[in-house]
Amino acid sequence: MTISRQTFLRLSGLSLAAVAFRRIARAVTGPKWGMAIDLAKCAGQDNCTQCAAACRQAHNVPQIPDSRHEIHWIWKEPFNRALPNQADEYSTISSAPVMVMCNHCEHPPCVRVCPTQATFQREDGIVAMDYHRCIGCRYCMAACPYGSRSFNWQDPRPYIASPNPDFPTRTKGVVEKCNFCSERISTGRLPACVEACPEKALTFGNLNDPNSAIRQLLGSRRHIRRKPELGTGPKVFYIV
Ligand code: SF4
Repeated sequence: MTISRQTFLRLSGLSLAAVAFRRIARAVTGPKWGMAIDLAKCAGQDNCTQCAAACRQAHNVPQIPDSRHEIHWIWKEPFNRALPNQADEYSTISSAPVMVMCNHCEHPPCVRVCPTQATFQREDGIVAMDYHRCIGCRYCMAACPYGSRSFNWQDPRPYIASPNPDFPTRTKGVVEKCNFCSERISTGRLPACVEACPEKALTFGNLNDPNSAIRQLLGSRRHIRRKPELGTGPKVFYIV
């Protein structure tokens, strides 16, 4: 059977429209992941870094002694650096360090500037990385207003205490950051940091589901985000 050029173009147009429609439908109805951090619960645990240790172990994050070459996925920052201009002089949480990580921004400037699409935004909102595509230009680091990305100035592998064979290691010249544990949530598990927190200070879930634990929390408790004035739309929220 032969089809005319006009019919062919009409059918191609229809199938492209169907693909576009499926993508939009998935983006609207699928999950959009977010994290809420209860500052009071976290502040109660002065020297606790169990979330960071669990993350390091799960993702082969090296521990490099030279602070200039440090690699971090989730770490503590002084309140004023993490949440500038949001300190409350009468609140005890304003004096405690704050856990920070990639915010998986709704409008991520890092993605916009990446020349090789090594960093990209998934339909579920996670800002992901393809390490093999990273050329080490560090534009993403310059664009991120939160300092959420680290650069491997040297081979990180000698600095991984007990490598996890189920997660890739990185190489010299590659940028890395928190991935919201995409490899764990794809199998129905919670992020490693959430699971490890002894205070249950971290809540992870689907922001598109009004019944999810994170939506219930955000609906009932006052919360703030990092540098909201920049319009990046962080999906990490701080319960105050
Ligand atoms: Fe990109 Fe930084 Fe936003 Fe993470 S926090 S998505 S690295 S701009």
